[in-house]
Amino acid sequence: MIIPMLDLKAQYAAIKDEVNEKVLGVLSTQNFILGAEVAALEEEISAYSGVRFAVGVSSGSDALIVSLMALGIGSGDAVATTPFTFFATAGAVARLGAKTIFCDIDPVTYNIDPSSLEEVLLKLQKSRRLGRVKAILPVHLYGQVADMDPIMKLAGKFDLRVIEDAAQAIGSEYPGRKGVRRAGAIGTLGTLSFYPSKNLGGYGDGGMVLTDSGRLADKLKLLRVHGGIGKYDYKILGGNFRLDALQAAILRVKYRHLDEWQQKRRERASYYNQKFSAAGLESARLVQTPVAVYKGSGARNFHTYHQYVIRTRDRDKLQAHLKAKGVGTSVFYPLSLHQQECFADLGYKRGDFPVSEKASKQVLALPIYPELTAEQQDYVVDSIKEYYG
Ligand SMILES: *Cc1c(COP(=O)(O)O)cnc(C)c1O
Repeated sequence: MIIPMLDLKAQYAAIKDEVNEKVLGVLSTQNFILGAEVAALEEEISAYSGVRFAVGVSSGSDALIVSLMALGIGSGDAVATTPFTFFATAGAVARLGAKTIFCDIDPVTYNIDPSSLEEVLLKLQKSRRLGRVKAILPVHLYGQVADMDPIMKLAGKFDLRVIEDAAQAIGSEYPGRKGVRRAGAIGTLGTLSFYPSKNLGGYGDGGMVLTDSGRLADKLKLLRVHGGIGKYDYKILGGNFRLDALQAAILRVKYRHLDEWQQKRRERASYYNQKFSAAGLESARLVQTPVAVYKGSGARNFHTYHQYVIRTRDRDKLQAHLKAKGVGTSVFYPLSLHQQECFADLGYKRGDFPVSEKASKQVLALPIYPELTAEQQDYVVDSIKEYYG
């Protein structure tokens, strides 16, 4: 049996008529830059995420860059984040000439560990370098929101802004001090990605920034059009960070299915959980990602399973076995960002973030998508069972 890691063709087959009609509609208007489709998608996603404003931008990476720009973060500043994430999180900080300060992660959720964050911030305070730090950039990895209550508390204590990288977590929920909030609606700003493989993915690049601040939303809208008002009147230095009308139109069709797709991802995750328990594979040898109950807050997350991740000591051998069986898998991420060559100037070394480094050697993402069938999931679990004999 061949089971791809992701099957976007199956999804397209199910919504082909709706999408094609919508795309042809945009082609007939010949309006491709911003406009009504982008504005309508911004309304829908801001309502869905529970924020007052949403600003469509060119990608999830650019959503991070414009968010940092909107907060005035640049050369001489620093941002605290996790080393266990997609490159763009720290790449955006570096692109603006700011310094990335890494903190270790929680071994259960793989999200930034608030106690490591606090330790790092206190150390900087002691050495009188805290003044450079402007923001915290937590990532909601695999579709599970980071432990935001203690993070927001630290942000208050140290006077920092918070940008949530919610690229993998649209619609995920965190029940915290301020009630149940969706990913990207808790910090100062939240960023989304519409990269094709994300839970809400376009047919190309796209992204969005979420905020409750009207002032920041206005600034983001200025930044995405080179900082210009009207035709040739430039107020601030921006760039071309616009979301395409075609992408917005396609995303609006897909948005109508999002709740159903999220539910199906969750059902498939609990089916894997059941199957792994029944197969006796919950031992120390192989542990699937549980839904976190965060220590301090007692919060239980609404996980949207952008990825379903297991961890095991012989990850590479298991991955090769599954490949031979026709099962696609992925490793997110095989090298902690503090060990990447392009960040060598930050001065980190192996051993600085042991939890992140260990995770990068052990995690394995299995196929999970709404179109995945029970027979396919049975085959994945049986193939893993076979490996462990
Ligand atoms: C996908 C992703 C991004 C970048 O999004 P693009 O739309 O591909 O630029 C940023 N951060 C995380 C955690 C991501 O998964």
